[in-house]
Amino acid sequence: MREIRSLAGMQRQARGWQRAGTRVALVPTMGYLHEGHLSLVCRARQVVGPAGVVVLSVYVNPTQFGPREDLARYPRDLQRDRRLCREAGVDVMFVPDDAAMYVREPGREHSTFVGEQVLSAGMEGASRPTHFRGVTTVVAKLFNLVLPEVAVFGAKDFQQAAVVRRMTRDLNFPVRIVVAPTVREEDGLARSSRNVRLSSEERAQAVALREVLLALRRAVQTAGGAGRTAGALGRLATQCLERFPLVRLDYVAFFDPETLVPCRRVTPGCQAALAVCLGQTRLIDNERL
Ligand code: AMP
Repeated sequence: MREIRSLAGMQRQARGWQRAGTRVALVPTMGYLHEGHLSLVCRARQVVGPAGVVVLSVYVNPTQFGPREDLARYPRDLQRDRRLCREAGVDVMFVPDDAAMYVREPGREHSTFVGEQVLSAGMEGASRPTHFRGVTTVVAKLFNLVLPEVAVFGAKDFQQAAVVRRMTRDLNFPVRIVVAPTVREEDGLARSSRNVRLSSEERAQAVALREVLLALRRAVQTAGGAGRTAGALGRLATQCLERFPLVRLDYVAFFDPETLVPCRRVTPGCQAALAVCLGQTRLIDNERL
């Protein structure tokens, strides 16, 4: 496995692959890798085959964190990430140099951002107003640096995948976006780098996300074609959370999985997403109902 840090070096390599006709898949991550990330690597390998290359980027992108969010506390362990990447068969680990990604020299600071305007507005975008602008900017930069044919994202970040897909189409990046299923712990908690931040009491109550989503799915399946109102389901979610006093609900949303338009009448096939806080840690999850 090779590790590339320089942006010019990455671009040179990417152009070399392009000239040679080598298929390239990109898995963008913020590191502190877990089984969820590694499942994206498997998916990437399936797409490009043994002769293709899988690039996994590790970059804790500062522009997707708000001023009061956990950028400084975000977990990092590059040594461990290297080992996991090697074991998973990653060909190139791209660890872009932060000072080069966002030039900070006074008078010539980075000042170009990519913003998707519609799918970014609700849910995570409403709670974290500059988040998706940071995501689309860094993903566009990674596409220009790695020149992948395909990029693999996780369904855990459902809205992010939709926003990235729209940005890719709108800006004509020749990149296919593949979304891989959410990988979970045994009790159903979606794997996340942030899970290590949970105390043991918080970790025990984090199963609430899954329980709420499954209760919502049962309610919608039982109602069938007539569905339930978003208001009634919101109340059901709040009721479920009463058993988990450490869990604070940020939002629960019901929407069309393609357009992300909110559903007033929620029927089977609608998507539900929720965000909660446990202490200092914010967790999200989603489910098809
Ligand atoms: P992150 O490092 O958290 O920014 O995530 C990098 C990529 O991994 C994103 O596309 C995430 O959606 C994906 N991902 C994170 N957690 C999981 C999971 N539990 N299952 C599947 N994909 C995941």
